[in-house]
Amino acid sequence: MTNHTLFIDNLAFAKKNERIAGVLSLADCPRLNELLQHFAEVSESNSIPAGSISYTLQGKTDAAGQSLLSLSLTTHLSTTCQRCLSDMPLQLTLNFNYLIGALSEADLSAAEVDSSDDFDLQQASQHMDIIALLEDEIIMAMPIAPTHDQYCGEIVSQSGEKPNPFAVLKGLIKS
Ligand SMILES: [Zn+2]
Repeated sequence: MTNHTLFIDNLAFAKKNERIAGVLSLADCPRLNELLQHFAEVSESNSIPAGSISYTLQGKTDAAGQSLLSLSLTTHLSTTCQRCLSDMPLQLTLNFNYLIGALSEADLSAAEVDSSDDFDLQQASQHMDIIALLEDEIIMAMPIAPTHDQYCGEIVSQSGEKPNPFAVLKGLIKS
């Protein structure tokens, strides 16, 4: 799969109850790829990040006439366990609901306080970048230091200065 872009007119998408589904490769998500590369590097692992992301985006309108988007995604990634330094699958299943509004940045931050936890607000946009949205959500959901769920062995000591993972994350999340 080659690099591709995916933009929607989010209000029109919601009003028409449109739905898109697809699979992205890591090549489509350079910032996520960089983060996985970083996990491999701090572990001094030679594994090359690989994987794919399946997603479904559904537009809808609620009873009050508000425009909504539902996003479901599942990652099928492989990364390096930061404890035992062996490869591990990283599967995340994430669901998000967005409320689309024609709001200014100031309105958005004011509304954020009142909005329920069930919905994230999104600016109305004729060119909403879906791949950037998916990538941001995955990066924010990623563990700071991925490790196997089960106890997988002794902590392998690492030599040298490790880059601060928080600093790396900060650079990857779009503001
Ligand atoms: Zn492990």
